[in-house]
Amino acid sequence: MRLRNVRGAREVIAESEYVIANPEQYQGHWRELFSKRRGEADTSHPLHIEIGMGKGRFLTTLAEQNPDINYLGIEKFTSVLYRAVQKQEEKQLKNLLLLRTEAELLENLFDREEVNRIYLNFSDPWPKERHAKRRLTSKEFLRRYAGILVPSGTVEFKTDNRALFDFSLEEVTPAGFEVLAATYDLHHDEAMCAGNVMTEYEERFSGKGNAICKMVIRQAAVPEG
Ligand code: SAM
Repeated sequence: MRLRNVRGAREVIAESEYVIANPEQYQGHWRELFSKRRGEADTSHPLHIEIGMGKGRFLTTLAEQNPDINYLGIEKFTSVLYRAVQKQEEKQLKNLLLLRTEAELLENLFDREEVNRIYLNFSDPWPKERHAKRRLTSKEFLRRYAGILVPSGTVEFKTDNRALFDFSLEEVTPAGFEVLAATYDLHHDEAMCAGNVMTEYEERFSGKGNAICKMVIRQAAVPEG
């Protein structure tokens, strides 16, 4: 998703208290930052992140629904992030912060075991084989996620792109993860669809009649002995 340059977007993002300008300085300290903003001493709230959050409807809705969870939205394009910032400036949720940065830099942003859940929604498909490593569900990216997730932490991925979904399922085992649940038709899968929050892309593509695929994965348990 790339929007045309939006006038003033850069300035709004630079001035917003909800966008963290130098996120590397909070590596290992996200929980403390959120606690300070909440005005609480409790640093035990879990941290869930969305990579490629787009205009932010999904994460904003989750943050409203789950005040005990801290949410961090990551988006690489200023013009897209701007839409998410506008939503958050209106709602001023204490448990939602936004970053304009790239997934490639994740290991500089988070410590080991700092993140409880990663959401990937309608990630760019990078259809050319030579670009497979750029897909956010490639084994290369999954290994990066393993470096920041708690051992029981999950990655939740939704897409209407069947080829990308099949590719992603194949990457799970080589990356040291296991599938907890998967469906090729989320909106007709009662169990997996319970509590589903639609993203902007999900609404658009399901509206065209496309089935939505979803998988939930977790790092495979290391065998004992
Ligand atoms: N998640 C939203 C949804 O479902 O409506 C947006 C989906 S859009 C197809 C993918 C988004 O991911 C775009 O906004 C794009 O800029 C962002 N993105 C792609 N690669 C990224 C990366 N490596 N790091 C951060 N954001 C990325």
